Parts: sequence; structure tokens; C-alpha cells
Amino acid sequence: MEELNQTTVVEREPYDVIVIGAGAAGMMAAGTAARSGKRVLLLEKMEKSGRKVRITGKGRCNVTNARPAEEFLEHVRTNREFLKQAFAEFNNRATIRFFERMGVKLEIERGERVFPQSGKAWDIANALLEYCVESGVKILYETRVTEIMTLGGRVFGVRYRNKRGFERKEECSQVILCTGGVSYPATGSTGDGYSFAADLGHTIEPLRPSLTPLKTSHPQMKFLHGLLLKNIRATLYIDGEVAREEFGEIGFSERGIEGAVALRVSRDAVDALIDGKSVKLVVDMKPALDEETLQERIKREIASMEPTEFFGELMRRLMPKPLVMPLARELDIHSKNYISKTTDVEITRLIKTLKGLTFPITDYAPFEYAVTTAGGVSCEEVNPYTMESLKVRGLYFAGEVLDLDANTGGYNLQIAFSTGRLAGLLKQ
Ligand SMILES: Cc1cc2nc3c(=O)[nH]c(=O)nc-3n(C[C@H](O)[C@H](O)[C@H](O)COP(=O)(O)OP(=O)(O)OC[C@H]3O[C@@H](n4cnc5c(N)ncnc54)[C@H](O)[C@@H]3O)c2cc1C
Repeated sequence: MEELNQTTVVEREPYDVIVIGAGAAGMMAAGTAARSGKRVLLLEKMEKSGRKVRITGKGRCNVTNARPAEEFLEHVRTNREFLKQAFAEFNNRATIRFFERMGVKLEIERGERVFPQSGKAWDIANALLEYCVESGVKILYETRVTEIMTLGGRVFGVRYRNKRGFERKEECSQVILCTGGVSYPATGSTGDGYSFAADLGHTIEPLRPSLTPLKTSHPQMKFLHGLLLKNIRATLYIDGEVAREEFGEIGFSERGIEGAVALRVSRDAVDALIDGKSVKLVVDMKPALDEETLQERIKREIASMEPTEFFGELMRRLMPKPLVMPLARELDIHSKNYISKTTDVEITRLIKTLKGLTFPITDYAPFEYAVTTAGGVSCEEVNPYTMESLKVRGLYFAGEVLDLDANTGGYNLQIAFSTGRLAGLLKQ
């Protein structure tokens, strides 16, 4: 073997593909490309991969949803048609098989939501990382891409700032852009990909927080923090018309009205507020009872009480305790009034409130608290069969950077996996 002397320069093979962002989409794309024999470099600006994946599903990671394809796609809010090809290439069943093959046991919960049996989102993030490492992907952390380099409408590399703060460039023939959205920016998703895409001539559909808490001017709101209401029906009204109806749970915190139901309706609420429309959320705390049945129930409760018991006790029997004082104020009935003194008018007011507690929605929580970003790289300018840019050859997109978003329930991660897999196949 020829000996190397000190002046010999060892030429390293250039990378075929550079993937920007080691999130859900980026790791799926990088591993897929490496499996097909490509030399892949994955650049991640944070100190570890999958920072966002690690906090998903309140630390449990709702990794996908097991509904049949048609039903699944109904939960995709934007560009459903565009997503169909990627979903056909790598659907929710494929995601389940993928993680089980990687040794992560999964289980299906209410609403067909799929979680790791361990209850640990880290298992999902680590499986994705292992997939990349096993496939031979080279990963550089604390490495922030600053530019995608093109020549004559083709990608030829990227510029980045390395761990030590030095500017470097690396050539390649294909780039997969997986920088995510702008929600929860502390996880690394700060929207860099939108600027790269815009600089290369892509249209960026306006960005809005989606699946985000809603702010209300309801005077009792500050007394409701920490409260969780289960099995309620929430109806979103936009300019007085019913826009959406959801069943489930709703929570209250200093961030606003949250919980699965509020997050699901937030997508429409945010758009309506941006358009200057009036928005309100009406909560029915007794959706299983019509007004007449509820009235009979209340009368039965009153009949079973001592006349010297208080109105507050009646309320206590009908709603969670923390709601009693704020709702008594809303009803303008003193909770210490004797039950025997309760009038029919007051009972009617109580029923109306239980069936239609109304929250005027005045604002929404910012990107810092939003689960996803609506808007992004316009799908009109991306080939749905390949995820390649229609403007720049060799540039591919995957994940939340695209103008794709869905309901809560495991749909958003599936978007990242489906588009990541298709992009990683580097079809032309
Ligand atoms: C709190 C929370 C809970 C969630 N729970 C769920 C859930 O249970 N189920 C579900 O389906 N969805 C959930 N989501 C949504 C889901 O996490 C995202 O839709 C998904 O992670 C998007 O994947 P992505 O790879 O496109 O982007 P990201 O996961 O955001 O990854 C983007 C990566 O790119 C890196 N990056 C950005 N810019 C650069 C740059 N210039 N150079 C190098 N690297 C860069 C970032 O550091 C980051 O690692 C949740 C989101 C949040 C915020």
C-alpha cells in the first residue's frame, strides 16, 4: 500500500445529498437517502437531533394516527390533495411498521392515536437517529446552514456556520430542506427555511400559529386557570355563523383556552381573527342532555336538598368545584342564597349557562405556544410526486416548512414522515 507522507492531501468523496434540519422530516429523509446508497450529510443547528420530537404529545409523542387513509386525510387542513402522493408512498401503517422494526413498541389509544408503549417521546427521536446512524448518515450538530447555493437554476451546495463559528461551504448535487416551521422556536425551528426558499424564488404562504391557545375577554377567565373540562361540546362561531363543532376536553391557563378541542378550532379562529371577523366559542357542559332533560335533573337535585342548603351546593352537583364561584358571578346569583329561594328565572339562567357558556375570542397565543405553523413554502411550486422544487433543480422539501398542517392526533408528525420519506427517495 502506498504510504502517505505529511504533505499528502486525502480527498474526501463529496456528499451527494445535504439534508438541512434533523427533525422528524429531516431524519426520515436522510436515513432514506443513505439507505439507497447516497452519501448523506445531515446538518442540525441545535446540539442534538429531534428537539421538537422529544417534547411532542406532552413528552409521550403521538407518533401517528391509525385511522383509514380517507379519514386520516380529512384531518389534514391544508393542501390535502398535494399530500396524497407522499401519504401513498409512506402512510400511517408504514410509520407503525417502521418504528416497530426499529424496536419501538407502539399502542393505539382513544381516537386511533398511536403512542410508544414506553410513554416516552425520546424513544421515537432516538429510533429516528439510530436509523440515520445505521444507514451511514454523517451528522454535524451546532451547525447552522446560512445559504443554499445554486448555479443556473440547480443546487450545488450549502454554506453553513460550524460549531466553532467558522463559515464553511459544502458541495452536493441535492439538498433536502427540512427546517420545520416557527412554532416553539426554542427547539430550533426558527423559520430559516422560509428565507432560503424565498431567496430562491419560492412563494411563502402567510405564516400563522395553528393549534394554539385562544385568548378571551371573558371577565371570569383569570379565575379559571388550571381548570380542565371533559366531555364538553364546543362550537366556534365566526361572524355569528357556526364554523366548527368539536367534542372533547378544554383547558384554561394563563396562555388562554387550550386542550384538544380549543386547539382543533384554533386553526379557523386564528384565520377569522386575522380577517377581522368576530369570533366566539360556546361551551356546552352538558352535551348529552337537552334543556328540558337538564331542567328535570336540576329540579330533582333541588328536591333532594335541604331548603337551607345554598345555591352554590346545587352548582357543585352540576359542575367541577373551581367553576362554581366564577359561574355564580357570571349568573349574578349569590352562591350563598338559600336553595329554597331559587326562582324559575334563575334556573333558566343556570341552564342557559351550562348549555352555552360563551367566550368572546379576541386574540390567540403567539408561535411560542403554537403546536404547528400554518402557511409556508407554497405546495403549488413543489412536485407532489417527488417533493422536488419546481423552481430549483435538486432542491427538495419535507415537513412543516411546507404549507401543510393538520389537526392534533398524530397527523402532523405523519406529514413529516410521509414527505420526508418521499423526499429522501430523491426521485427526479
Ligand atoms: C409542543 C408540541 C407538541 C407536539 N405534539 C405532536 C404530537 O404529539 N403529534 C404530532 O403529530 N405532532 C406534534 N407536534 C407537531 C410536530 O412536532 C411537528 O409538526 C414536526 O416535528 C415537524 O417536523 P419537521 O421535521 O418538519 O420540523 P422540526 O421537528 O421543527 O425540525 C426542524 C429542524 O431543523 C433544524 N433547523 C432549523 N433551521 C436550521 C438551519 N438553518 N440549519 C440547520 N438546522 C436547522 C431545527 O433545529 C430542527 O431540529 C407537536 C409540536 C409541538 C411544538
